[in-house]
Formats: sequence, C-alpha cells, structure tokens
Amino acid sequence: LWDEALGHLQVQLSRPTFEAWIKTARAESLVDNRLTISTPSEWARGWLQKHYASTITEVVQRVAGIPLQVEFSVAPQALVEEEAPSTAVASTSRKAGSFPASAPLGLEVSGSLPMRAPDLNPKYSFSRFVVGPNNRMAHAAALAVADKPGRAYNPLFLCGGVGLGKTHLMQAIGHYQLEANPRAKVFYVSTERFTNDLIDAIRRDSMQSFREHYRDVDILLVDDIQFIEGKEYTQEEFFHTFNTLHESGKQIVLAADRSPHLIPRLQERLCSRFSMGLIAEIQPPDIETRMAILKKKAEYEGMILPPEVIEYIATTYTSNIRELEGALIRAVAYVSISGLPMSVETIQPILNPPSEPKEITPDMIIDVVCEEFGVDRESLLGSSRKRDISQARQIAMFLMRHHTNLSLPKIGDYFGGKDHTTVLYSCEKVSQLQRENLQFERQLQNLAQRLRVMANSRN
Ligand code: ADP
Ligand code: MG
Repeated sequence: LWDEALGHLQVQLSRPTFEAWIKTARAESLVDNRLTISTPSEWARGWLQKHYASTITEVVQRVAGIPLQVEFSVAPQALVEEEAPSTAVASTSRKAGSFPASAPLGLEVSGSLPMRAPDLNPKYSFSRFVVGPNNRMAHAAALAVADKPGRAYNPLFLCGGVGLGKTHLMQAIGHYQLEANPRAKVFYVSTERFTNDLIDAIRRDSMQSFREHYRDVDILLVDDIQFIEGKEYTQEEFFHTFNTLHESGKQIVLAADRSPHLIPRLQERLCSRFSMGLIAEIQPPDIETRMAILKKKAEYEGMILPPEVIEYIATTYTSNIRELEGALIRAVAYVSISGLPMSVETIQPILNPPSEPKEITPDMIIDVVCEEFGVDRESLLGSSRKRDISQARQIAMFLMRHHTNLSLPKIGDYFGGKDHTTVLYSCEKVSQLQRENLQFERQLQNLAQRLRVMANSRN
C-alpha cells in the first residue's frame, strides 16, 4: 500500500520535497484503518504532519480505496537501517522508495512494462468526422500531420472544450497512418496512463523499458495533456520523451482542454515545446454542423430520423457533441421500446428530463467572483497582495471550499499552488467576516444563488 502510494507521491510532489520528506518515511502499521507512518526524526514528523498530512492521506486513501486515518511517528532506528548494507531479499527490484523488502505493507510487484497494441476506437476515423467552421482548421492540420507525420506540424496541439472532437481527431490521425502503413508504430495514451506507467516503472525499477516503450514509436498521441499540470516528475520525464521523439523526426500530437499557456503549473520549457508546432483550436459547433453530425451518426447506425427531430435535438444540445450523440441514442431507444412514432412530441419529455441540481465548478466560481468584484481572472489566480484582489481571492477560495468537493490542497492548486494552510486561513477569515457582517453574509448568499443558477443553466 505505502509502496504504491510512494509512487503516486513521487509524481505529485516536487522532487526535493519527495526526496527530503517522503522517501525517508515508512509505513509502520495499519491497525483499525489507522496507518502509522514513521519518520526518521521529530523534525521530519512535525514537518510531514504540518505540510503533507492531507496530501498523504488523500493519496493513501485513493490507493487503499477505503477511508484511512494517517498518523506520523518517530522511529530513530529508521536512519540506521537505511545506511546498513541491504542484504538478501532487499536486492530484488525496488528502488523507488528505498523501501525495506520486509515492509509490512509492501505489495509484491514484478515483471516489466507490458507492451500495448494501439488502443484506438475504430469509430474515430476521418471519414466519420464532420467538418464545420468550428473545426475546419484543426481538421486540416490533423490531415496534414496524418499524411506527412513529423514533417507538417510537430507537435500538433489540439485544444478545445469537452466533447468537441479532440480525441476523435487525434485517433483519426492514428487510423490514417496505420491504413497507409500497417507496420507504423502508432501509440495513443492518455496523460493519466503515461503517469501511471511512469509510476509503475519507478516502482518496478524498469525505467529502461518504459523509455524504450515510449520512445520507439512513429506517432505518439497523448490525450488530455492538461492533466500533467503540477506533476513535476511526470513533466520531467515527458520532456525527455518529447525531445527524443522530436529530434528523430517522430510525430507528436497532443490534446488538451485549453492552450498550453493556460495550463497552470506547466514548466516553461514544456509550454514552449508544446507551442512550437501548431496549436489548433476546436470551437463549439454551430447549428448546421450539429445537424450534420446527427445525420451522419444516424446514417451509420442505420436509423431514419425526420428532419424536424434532428433539428430539435440539435437545438436542445448545443455545447457538447458527446451529449448531442447521447440524446440521439436515447431518443431512438425510447421510440423503439415505447412503440411510439419518432416525432418531436414523443422525444420531448425524455430529452428534457427535470434537471437535478447541477454541479458548481471552480471555473464558475472564478467567473462569478471576478464579475462581482471587478477583478480580472489573472489577478485573482495570481499572487497580488492588493487588498481588494486578495479579498476577492479569499472569497473565491471560501466558495470553492463550500460548493465543490475539492480538497484544500486542490483549491490551493487553482491559485498558483498555494499551500493548503493558506487556503484554510482564507476560508476561516471569510467565515469570521460572514458572522460579523450581515451585509457581507447577504453578498455571499447572493453569490451562491448566482452559482446555482449558472450551474443549472449550463449542460
Ligand atoms: P473530446 O476529446 O474533445 O472531449 P471526443 O473526441 O471524445 O471529444 O468527441 C465526443 C464525441 O463526439 C465522440 O463520440 C466523437 O465521435 C463525436 N464527435 C466530435 N466531433 C465530431 C465531428 N466533428 N463529427 C462527428 N463526430 C464528432
Ligand atoms: Mg477527449
């Protein structure tokens, strides 16, 4: 358990932090859902408790899949053990956490990184992609890259909101290349997968095969690269993967929900690498494109739809193609089960189900606070100490704490990686003000109300 958690922590935290504080800690015992972590000194115990308790608890719980309480203790002999020459079993293949093989909670892992065949969805081909004004440039760029990998734009960086076709377009490049050259090495991975493979490789001491795996490709497609944000170790490794491929003229395609310079806590050198080819943005589709997508989808699935039904669905779902397609499938399923005719009247009730309260997102909070206090987004998320900006920032943190499920460290991340104690302090300050000042309390209530309206009006 701890062994696996170490892998995650190594990727999540900065290297000096990991080396100094986490690597030297050990899992001591797990009794009644209470995990005791021993540290080499009182100083280290205090430091971990103060700064990393919540991060460690979060990671350990995620790995274990159950709620756990984490406690820190001091084990003076820990240091001595580390210095003693390791004997017998300890020499297998475990370096990551310099973890004793006799660790009570160690998980046995062996073997090297499995090779994977390209993991492409057969439906995500160019022929099934509907071109409209919203994606024309991204489509053209993807075609150019598919046609001349490594020689058109390298990297190609696709960006745009959720469900707008980034993954589809990216995989279409892979299909196209495999059709032209079935022996081409096309490798599609999510950023999460890359990170997990990296953690595995560190844990199994198999970095060599990890590198061979990721560097011996003709086209590397990495999806949702925004998730590399703040992961120092992953960024470091990806930087080298990128350079090796780029230098040998191999094609790299990246996709993200925003352009590289809007990804927070992305190393400058990676940001500049990501921007050195072409950044192609996909916008939400207009009504004609939405209707064309529905028609094409219906055709492929062998469904016949009256034009007014297509128009109705395309008018109802405007900002996410995945949801647009989902609505079509629901409509068809409903009609076939109910035996009713396919008409706007029939499908209306199932397309607009009474909406449940929707989630308030951190982005909405940032928007609303910026608007309310006349602060721009950049200043709000930055570190200006001007009174009105820092006050607005504290309120934004408070709202995130109360209206989202984000943990304190995660909220800190939104504001340029602020420490969770800073976030907590801000929340407490806002709470106090709220208790003391009725007008301020009303203002907060009003903000919350606006957030709920906003959440429910966006689909
Ligand atoms: P993203 O990766 O941007 O979140 P996806 O590529 O997963 O979005 O697309 C969501 C769904 O919408 C997929 O089923 C995809 O096939 C479909 N889709 C998106 N854009 C188009 C398009 N231009 N033509 C046809 N289908 C599309
Ligand atoms: Mg995607």
